[in-house]
Amino acid sequence: MVGLPNNSFAHLMERDTKTYVLKRLVDEAVPRKLSIDYAAALNSQQLAAVTAGEGPSLVIAGAGSGKTRTLVYRVAYLIDSGIDPSQILLLTFTRKSSQEMLDRAGELIGVRSERVRGGTFHSVANMLLRRYGRSIGLEPGFTILDRGDAEDLIALVRSQLGLNEKDKRFPRKGTIAEMFSKSENTLRPLAEIVVEEFDHFSDHLDALEQLQRGYQASKRQRQLVDYDDLLVLLRRLVMEDEGVRRTISSLYRYILVDEYQDTNRLQADVVRHLASTHHNVMVVGDDAQSIYAFRGATFKNIMEFPALFPGTIIYKLEENYRSTQPILNLANTIIEAATERYSKHLFTRKLDGPLPVLVEAAGENAQSRFIAQKILELREEGVPLSEMAVLFRSSFHSFDLEIELSRHGLSFIKRGGVKFIETAHVKDLLAHMRVVANPLDAVSWHRVLMLVEGVGPKKAQDVMAALVKSDKPYHALREMTGRSGKGLKDLALTLESLAGSGDLRPAEQVNHIYEYYLPILKTQYDDYPKRMRDLDHLQTIAEGYQEVETFLSDLALEPPDGSAAGVEATDRDDERLVLSTIHSAKGLEWQCVFVIWIVDGRFPSVYSFSEDEGLEEERRLFYVSVTRAKRHLYLTYPINVFDRGSGMILSKPSRFLDPVSPGQLDQLVLMEEGGRADWYSRDDH
Ligand code: ATP
Ligand code: MG
Repeated sequence: MVGLPNNSFAHLMERDTKTYVLKRLVDEAVPRKLSIDYAAALNSQQLAAVTAGEGPSLVIAGAGSGKTRTLVYRVAYLIDSGIDPSQILLLTFTRKSSQEMLDRAGELIGVRSERVRGGTFHSVANMLLRRYGRSIGLEPGFTILDRGDAEDLIALVRSQLGLNEKDKRFPRKGTIAEMFSKSENTLRPLAEIVVEEFDHFSDHLDALEQLQRGYQASKRQRQLVDYDDLLVLLRRLVMEDEGVRRTISSLYRYILVDEYQDTNRLQADVVRHLASTHHNVMVVGDDAQSIYAFRGATFKNIMEFPALFPGTIIYKLEENYRSTQPILNLANTIIEAATERYSKHLFTRKLDGPLPVLVEAAGENAQSRFIAQKILELREEGVPLSEMAVLFRSSFHSFDLEIELSRHGLSFIKRGGVKFIETAHVKDLLAHMRVVANPLDAVSWHRVLMLVEGVGPKKAQDVMAALVKSDKPYHALREMTGRSGKGLKDLALTLESLAGSGDLRPAEQVNHIYEYYLPILKTQYDDYPKRMRDLDHLQTIAEGYQEVETFLSDLALEPPDGSAAGVEATDRDDERLVLSTIHSAKGLEWQCVFVIWIVDGRFPSVYSFSEDEGLEEERRLFYVSVTRAKRHLYLTYPINVFDRGSGMILSKPSRFLDPVSPGQLDQLVLMEEGGRADWYSRDDH
């Protein structure tokens, strides 16, 4: 009976409640006139899914078969049938993809689609926890810790607990964060994770468990929430508080999820509880594209969906609309070798097209030069820059290429890898905003204090201890004496003016802190001019926000890509080539795709050779990369590359190409102009 006032009629309702069923229009008897010709835009299976009635549905199909398109049309169809758009919840992997899907739905159905709720699991969790989290002890003003902050807090708690401080073999904070996260996301005890995946740290298990408890307690006490907590706490909220569960469930009567193969148990549980009053859930996915096992995702989730949701209707899509037959043939061969797989039969009507090309380059720079040259050639032939992408396994694989592209005057945008917000100077600035928004945020206090001249780790701890005790922290800060006294006083004045001046808008706060922070930036970093540009960029982002809280949580949840330190962000997005990690290319498509570093040892990486599951995940990742291409596909590999980790010289194309027959690929060896094949060039250092 949550939400009813004390003098409610709850007792009456319990005694003689009768129900009266209000009909919903989606499964109505009288057909409503629909505004879109769905049958013309969709094939019969897609149409069946789009126009499905109430209850759970699962769309399982291979790459490029129109799963995402089906969801877009489903949104339009629901609205078209009279469903209130604000009762539709669309969950996607990035905010950008939900925005794109809703834009497309808008083109079909008009502005009503703007009222659909769309976002990632994490952003929806953030929103719901701020609104309903009180019953599990969460205040609406909680702070979100990103991965770096979480690691810093772990380090802080470790030193407070005095755990194995001298022991060099104790795992590092990044590794510890990974263990904790895996344990949360898979709902398994830490001990199991350590023994199975980090066995060499088993001796430290007791200390690690103690640290995990300390970390949890510290977060709760200070109203801090890390990424995993967003899911863990939302799950707890909807499982434990029946009133809230019912309220939320009746708010969102239609739940749609894209890329379901990359969800984990926590997310599956959340979906199940959110849908508990109506069971109107439609999820779409492809088990062969599951690439987030390291975050606890499991492709088994998608196979278990029908068991979790009895009465599920399954739809299979078999026509691929994206790629030509030669590209599809290659993709099929690659994935057929997977050990665990649910077979799908994909076909395409685009029979003609060039064969995918496998390119051998004498070294990394030859590979980069090939790509730059080919891009220019394709552009001459009429393929726009925005219809081309270069994909890679790890962010650093593109460094050499980035230099080469700049040399040729080709502008690009990079996705995935280190984010703008993860850069030290942006974090520094935001930390000041965060201590004002949540004075209990120990991680940000630590960061802010350590920037003050004369403050070291010990002093920072002492100051923090004093602040916690004081009910007027800024006053206490101003009263500090000693070597750092002046610096702390300046800090106190800055923070106080932010906190005291009522509702300063985010952009004004950024400006204010910028003035205080600029001298610090200049002494800390030699390349400060570049970093100042990032802060200008931050200012621009802040201008789009009214409230500090929304600004801070959006930045933590959906960090903007790229730092000015690496990318020239001048052109418009649509005129630029995309460089992306394969993970960040999920769900997307381009006319022409280059996948680089297809050399055995890098892709798959040497580290996954010995581990079946790891190898299978890399295979799926490769499948994801080749299925992004519509017409042109180039796989390139440098040879004679020395791998420091293993001490091996890498020279063979990826083992994932072993089952591919010669007729499925064109093979190219690069020649230097006016010369022979450049076999001995060692330009890859
Ligand atoms: P992925 O597994 O990569 O996420 P997907 O299954 O979500 O792929 P979509 O991205 O929805 O596939 O569709 C791939 C391409 O095929 C898109 O360009 C889409 O517009 C097009 N397409 C899908 N279905 C149809 C159709 N019935 N008629 C015309 N084009 C279609
Ligand atoms: Mg898709």
